[in-house]
Amino acid sequence: MKKWCYLLAFAMVISLTACTGAAKNEPLPEQSASVSTEVSSQEPETSVPQESAEESLLELDSAEESFPADGSIEAALPVESEPEEETEPLPDPETESQAEEETESDLEPNIELEPKPQPEPETNDKAVLVVIDAGHQAYGNSEKEPIGPGASESKAKVASGTSGCSTGMPEYELTLQVSLKLQEELKGRGYQVLMVRTENDVNLSNAERAEIANHAGADVFLRIHANGAEDSARQGAMTICQTKNNPYNSSIYPQSKLLSACVLDDLVAATGCEKEFVWETDTMSGINWCQVPVTIVEMGYMSNPEEDERMATAEYQRKIAEGIANGVDAYIASRTN
Ligand SMILES: [Zn+2]
Repeated sequence: MKKWCYLLAFAMVISLTACTGAAKNEPLPEQSASVSTEVSSQEPETSVPQESAEESLLELDSAEESFPADGSIEAALPVESEPEEETEPLPDPETESQAEEETESDLEPNIELEPKPQPEPETNDKAVLVVIDAGHQAYGNSEKEPIGPGASESKAKVASGTSGCSTGMPEYELTLQVSLKLQEELKGRGYQVLMVRTENDVNLSNAERAEIANHAGADVFLRIHANGAEDSARQGAMTICQTKNNPYNSSIYPQSKLLSACVLDDLVAATGCEKEFVWETDTMSGINWCQVPVTIVEMGYMSNPEEDERMATAEYQRKIAEGIANGVDAYIASRTN
């Protein structure tokens, strides 16, 4: 009888060991789960850019072959006779409710971001598209165009811009130098970037530049400019967007205002320049024609000798590009909240 008991006990031990062994072999599912996590976490990097922008570009006048690899698309436009706009904006700082502006932008989320906001893998099939317009061009175009869709008022298609009081550098040259650095900075952060122009000798009106951003379906449209003033002591950066009562595109006022505030804050933080304010105006045809969030960045005053000299250096231009890119990061992070 004892023997049977021993045998029974032995059999139970064996079967218990077998169960434990089987259990120990189970981790397989976990391993495969962690493998797939790694795979999907890599997807964001590889799938980010291309597609969405390419799709958008296809809509743009069937000119997709004419888009050079660098994203420039001026060659794709129906060139008729173009260009002015935004003559140097010199708003009366006092007339704008500056206090209100600053209070408001202080309230905007100053979110510190990773270099590039990487969304969840499943939402990552659409990259954030930034369109950059280097303001002006080698030769202005004084022909007129309506200041907005259906407007009776018209403005020159594109102004030749200002020039450095000390360096003599034309504004269109400076805006292109900074825009090219900004393009690199944003691409390095994973953004899809489309350049309105990569050369000075183009003929693009302000309305046409806006249409490029519209057709591309830009998430952000950055119009890069430099300022000029009678008072050579005036210096610092400002950004510009429409008013909330803009007759053409008031629906994108909130985004444009947020974008303008984010870019101004981070531009000032990166360069240490003086902060002016976000100027809201409905006089800019290049803004009025927009159907996407837009801001004009007035990087500084070319009429101020020191600021003019500073803006002409590659080092300061890199700071400007970094600051604007930080502002775009902050805007993208807060717009989705
Ligand atoms: Zn300008």
